[in-house]
Amino acid sequence: MEEDNLTVVLYLNGLRLEQRPIPEVDDFDVLLAIDTVAVGKSDLHYFVYGRPNPILFNIYSKDKNVIKPMVIGYESSGVVVKRGQKVSGLSVGDRVAIKAGFPCHYSDRCKEGKFCNCPENVFCAFAPTDGTLTRYFKHPADYCLKLPNHVTMEEGALVNLVATAVSSCSLGRLQPCSKLVICGAQPLGLVTLMVAQAMGVSQILVTDMKQHRLELAKELGATHTLLEKSEQSDTEVVEHVREAFGDLASAYIRTSYIGLETLLTSEVLESGGVLAISNPASNARISSEDYAQALSLVASGKLNLKRLMSHHFDIEEAVQAFETAKMDLEDVLKVMIHVKPRAK
Ligand SMILES: [Zn+2]
Repeated sequence: MEEDNLTVVLYLNGLRLEQRPIPEVDDFDVLLAIDTVAVGKSDLHYFVYGRPNPILFNIYSKDKNVIKPMVIGYESSGVVVKRGQKVSGLSVGDRVAIKAGFPCHYSDRCKEGKFCNCPENVFCAFAPTDGTLTRYFKHPADYCLKLPNHVTMEEGALVNLVATAVSSCSLGRLQPCSKLVICGAQPLGLVTLMVAQAMGVSQILVTDMKQHRLELAKELGATHTLLEKSEQSDTEVVEHVREAFGDLASAYIRTSYIGLETLLTSEVLESGGVLAISNPASNARISSEDYAQALSLVASGKLNLKRLMSHHFDIEEAVQAFETAKMDLEDVLKVMIHVKPRAK
């Protein structure tokens, strides 16, 4: 095995590329040669502020700051290059998507079998746990999803994002007849739109504060859009939803935490309607069924994930990749970092 383990490490004053030792695998782990990492929202917040977004992460506390250099990255795919002695179900050479969060297996919740509710869950690139933006990454084999041959490694890197969307669509109890409002047309909102469509939902209103994002939502099949404006009154928003659906909404999935103070859920939702908050901090609580469904949706080809991959960089250009993601220009959607050298 090559000794090159180039790794992207977040220091308080920015990212550095450095060599790290290749990790040893424990009995139930696999060693992955990372292929692709997509820059995630929480990565970006760490990059900009050195800590997770306190609004996104309600479990935020002081010790979640980057107090030691931390490897960044969590939306990722890789290839198994070594496996622990007790690993079954995965072989060397298998291509996998990484489930970024996993439970401790020792808490009371874990002992009850409620792994999704583990209070001690660990999440890649959530301090102090290192992330995946490295050539070689050790991960529990049970938290790797084997990719079908026709799914690309880039799509594999987005399975975690799709699973987040599936989880909130499940919470929203979506049915084909649902009248769905999705707040936020950034990548998570757009993937949520794709997942909801794949579930058969035909009436979907997407809201955002930026018109260009709404144009993309329309291109991807949103039936209605609403440009959020701070001066909009609740009555105006509710009226807009009524005009779109001929009724109030039956489900409302919130994927954005910025703005939209005007869109009060209690008023846009019909009686009995469901509010689901799509929170990356709850990734460790995404059920294995959600992950399985996410993988199956990706494999079905029903999600146009390629449309979301706006920028590509090699790992050596990681700083440039993060600067690009940070600029939040109109054409920036998912910034993909290729850890495995790309075929020229
Ligand atoms: Zn636990």
